[in-house]
Amino acid sequence: MEKTLSIIKPDAVAKNVIGKIIDRFESNGLRICAMKKIQLTQENAENFYDIHRERPFFGELVSFMTSGPVVVMAIEGENAVLKNRDLMGATNPKEAEAGTIRADFADSIDANAVHGSDSLENAKTEIGIFFTDSELL
Ligand code: AMP
Repeated sequence: MEKTLSIIKPDAVAKNVIGKIIDRFESNGLRICAMKKIQLTQENAENFYDIHRERPFFGELVSFMTSGPVVVMAIEGENAVLKNRDLMGATNPKEAEAGTIRADFADSIDANAVHGSDSLENAKTEIGIFFTDSELL
């Protein structure tokens, strides 16, 4: 059993497809342990994406992630980290396989509908940014 962090990004929240995205997780054996809808501040987003601070897209990424509310979730299941990434599809929705969340709901590499932790280690760190242990049920 693994836990991973999923974020439904502002584009998908604005499109009103939160439920459709959650259904992809639940229909594929992933369970929601914790969930909240929040508005990230500039500081929240900069800290969350700290590893990308030097990348040319950092400014746009932070500005996009603070452009509207997001839904953050800790999700659990067998191989949850990899399974979530498979369900999301490639970062660039143009390269995402048919039937993946990004192929179906994302518009661009910035507005790409969802975030998912890329390793078990990062999943633990990222879950800890948003949830306390006692909130993971
Ligand atoms: P991560 O989910 O940690 O890989 O965060 C990187 C995010 O930055 C992606 O999900 C994209 O939304 C965004 N991004 C924007 N431009 C790029 C790019 N050229 N390469 C990778 N990620 C990009």
